[in-house]
Amino acid sequence: MGEEKESEIQEFKLEKDSELRFEIENNNETVVLEVKAGMAEIFGTELVKGKPYSFTTGAKVAVFTYHGCTIELKGRKNISYISKETPMMSYLNCHACLEKLRQKAEQEGGRGPVTMIVGPADVGKSTVSRILLNYAVRMRRRPVYVDLDIGQGAISVPGTMGAILVERPASIEEGGFSQQAPLVFNFGSVKYQSNLTLCNIITSRLAEVVQERLQSNKKANASGIIVNTAGWIKGDGYKLLTHAAQAFEVDVVLVLDQERLYNELVRDMPNFVRIVLLPKSGGVVERSVSYRQEMRDKRVREYFYGSGGGAAAAAQGVRGASLHPHSFDVKWSDLKIYKIGAPALPDSCMPLGMKAEDNMTKLVAVQPGLNLLHHLLAVSFASSAEEDVINSNVAGFVCVTAVDTDRQTLTILSPQPRPLPDTLLIMCDIQFMDNH
Ligand code: ATP
Repeated sequence: MGEEKESEIQEFKLEKDSELRFEIENNNETVVLEVKAGMAEIFGTELVKGKPYSFTTGAKVAVFTYHGCTIELKGRKNISYISKETPMMSYLNCHACLEKLRQKAEQEGGRGPVTMIVGPADVGKSTVSRILLNYAVRMRRRPVYVDLDIGQGAISVPGTMGAILVERPASIEEGGFSQQAPLVFNFGSVKYQSNLTLCNIITSRLAEVVQERLQSNKKANASGIIVNTAGWIKGDGYKLLTHAAQAFEVDVVLVLDQERLYNELVRDMPNFVRIVLLPKSGGVVERSVSYRQEMRDKRVREYFYGSGGGAAAAAQGVRGASLHPHSFDVKWSDLKIYKIGAPALPDSCMPLGMKAEDNMTKLVAVQPGLNLLHHLLAVSFASSAEEDVINSNVAGFVCVTAVDTDRQTLTILSPQPRPLPDTLLIMCDIQFMDNH
């Protein structure tokens, strides 16, 4: 009831080329936004005038207008301010250049621009990806969104890399693109360092499958690809980036906010790759380690339960709808669980002809037990360890919510009803406490 009292309505008048930024920090809070007059967009998705949009705890939002508008915010007073200093014109120019390349590709029946977005942590890489994808799809393009950032798991759960065909703008409230048939590869951890070899293999495979699929979709092929990357840009992180650039055969690299990285890429990339340095937005909010962890948990929870966005969200596709996962017991003996990567041995201890890095791609059988509690298991499309498991994408994920050592069973939380498909399960480092 106290909260009711503090609830208030604020009205903001925005001039052209300015944005209203707001953050919701307190727990269990909702802010409702409405455009009263004019036109506005959130990270490239247009807002409908007179329609209420709800945002909850953790939201960090910018409402941008090219022509001026009036916006109302309803809820407890949060951090909110108007900024006239935004890099949106630079981002719009980038979009215009990509659009020219798409037109050329369309005329010549070729491939549209493959654009990779790089930069340190918290510079707005995911946001710029979202803006460029939204602008493309608003021009009736069908770009592919590739997310290589295993820390966030924007396309599936954290610990994965994936790709989707973008057919409509991102949802305003959930922020994501709707996800029919995502292509997902499991890395199984949020730390690239845990297995650089695997990371490079998955990146190459993802690039290969995306290119294959584009061959049979002319419209998507001419629209090109937007590749979002992680903020690890030094040392091995930089090597992963250049490997990804090569694997995806990028045409354009957009470097956010870092001249040093820009210069390194100019030095190391082939001449035909255009490297562009872009400013970051002053609105991008730095996120703490604990906030990132919370967001990861939220992503996994949404994967199983949906984000409960109500009927409107449900109408926008699977993501955002309230989902009803299944929970059931399975016998240990009915499961084939593996882990990728055996403990590292020095080259001198390896059998003749094998290198230590071969160990990193080895499938190791996992004996079910308490070691699996709360872990995510990737449901592979591979049905036996003899198949090329690492190069197979995954059907989805289940979570082990309980282990019964007497009955030798696992309780599984699964988006699909029983039985589990008769395929391999790959144990991930990612854990999720199901306290729904
Ligand atoms: P990382 O790679 O470190 O995960 P990133 O560089 O991809 O991060 P984003 O996720 O795009 O960064 O942005 C960080 C946060 O800042 C997000 O919560 C996003 O919503 C917010 N944000 C981005 N641009 C703005 C803006 N102009 N005003 C307010 N908030 C913003």
